[in-house]
Amino acid sequence: MEQPVIALVGRPNVGKSTLFNRLTRTRDALVADFPGLTRDRQYGVGRLGPAPYVVVDTGGLGETDDVTYHHMQRQALRALDEADVILFLVDARVGVTPGDEALTRDLRRRGKRVWLVMNKIDGVDADVAGAEFHSLGMDSPWPIAAVQGRGVTQLMGAVLEDCLGAAPASADPADAEAPDEPDAPIDVAIIGRPNVGKSTLVNRLIGEERVLVYDMPGTTRDSIRVPFERDGRAFTLIDTAGVRRRSRVSDGVEKFSVIKTLQAIEAAQVVIMVLDAQQEISEQDAHLIGHAINAGRGLVLAVNKWDGLIAENRERIRRELDVKLGFLDFTRPRFISALHGTGVGRLLEEVAHVHAAARRELPTPALNRVLEDAISAHQPPLVRGRRIKLRYAHQGGRNPPTIVVHGNQTRDLPDAYRRFLINRFRKAFQLHGTPIRLELRTGE
Ligand code: GDP
Ligand code: GDP
Repeated sequence: MEQPVIALVGRPNVGKSTLFNRLTRTRDALVADFPGLTRDRQYGVGRLGPAPYVVVDTGGLGETDDVTYHHMQRQALRALDEADVILFLVDARVGVTPGDEALTRDLRRRGKRVWLVMNKIDGVDADVAGAEFHSLGMDSPWPIAAVQGRGVTQLMGAVLEDCLGAAPASADPADAEAPDEPDAPIDVAIIGRPNVGKSTLVNRLIGEERVLVYDMPGTTRDSIRVPFERDGRAFTLIDTAGVRRRSRVSDGVEKFSVIKTLQAIEAAQVVIMVLDAQQEISEQDAHLIGHAINAGRGLVLAVNKWDGLIAENRERIRRELDVKLGFLDFTRPRFISALHGTGVGRLLEEVAHVHAAARRELPTPALNRVLEDAISAHQPPLVRGRRIKLRYAHQGGRNPPTIVVHGNQTRDLPDAYRRFLINRFRKAFQLHGTPIRLELRTGE
């Protein structure tokens, strides 16, 4: 039910980040529409292949002489522990190196499923190059050229079939166009850095006793779904490991897992991103928000620990949200105190609003009126002496709302104009808190 976790391992320069980019590049990186958000270059959700999966680029494992490297290596090793499958990349042009041999021994000790992947087969004889890697004592290498995408879809098909069974289910629940059931529970994930107050918020929502049950050991691999109700509305809370209460006996330092967070985002319909009003907004906050948006999920920002803040600091965080995330016209941040319960009811109202917005029907005539108004307010630019024409629009999907616009030369439409259009649609249809996909098609 959870997305499998696939870790990319290999010496520096074998092509891990090239493969990572190829696997995680979405049709249209929604994050690009939000100033302040950048892609996470280490963790992502892969969509190339028959079903979604989490991809982790472990960076440069297999090189041992650098000091800062050891720190990275610890992170990378943890990702290996969390992985279901390891793709071990080697370089067809370089052949077997001592680093590859060391990594082979290391991976073997871990007892994980490892696929040997020989990259950069463009312009080399894959059979000849592949023969050399037999000395590693693994299965024959799987040949790819990450830079061109050659062999990559086939590789992911085989890998996913191996971990999910013969017929990988299309696993994105939000993609399924389920008929509207107004009373169906809303699947909510609560994400955020450690210590921002996620567990406290969960306690508020589902109550102390439920949290204890939910803390039971032995449930680490399957995602936990906890139903609860508030003001007559049903919700299902999707667990992230970070949300679970630290057990009183265990190590104290909570392990924050980006992987668990990504899996929870995938399983949710609406994500509550918790920020700590008493801390600066960090790059990790921006990445987590970026993950939720790129997954197409509705997003509610909960700015927690609002209690006990003096007016000056409240002003500071409002400004910071605006400057660092450029978010205030996308969603209304909710200022809460999980500890005292202030604002929590309104937070859930916002969840319900965002959920409704993400599923809204956008009638074609209304879409076209908004498009015409937008164009007459501000014409698309000329490109090579011809004006870009946007002719008509229709809804291409929901969850997130997808708007298809047909015209000429649409490929040349500047990003600023895309954002302008998206904002027009957002305002006209009150699509707060949900990313909007704009698909431009050129058709003559
Ligand atoms: P990483 O250090 O393992 O993440 O490796 P990178 O993804 O940064 O790639 C290292 C270099 O190899 C870059 O210059 C890439 O353009 C190049 N590269 C990656 N994949 C391929 C490939 O399939 N063919 C060729 N010819 N070059 C590649
Ligand atoms: P998590 O790691 O995100 O689950 O964070 P916790 O829920 O464990 O909270 C971390 C710390 O912040 C704890 O000491 C909480 O008591 C405290 N905390 C949580 N919510 C609030 C809040 O609304 N106001 C204040 N002042 N402290 C809070």
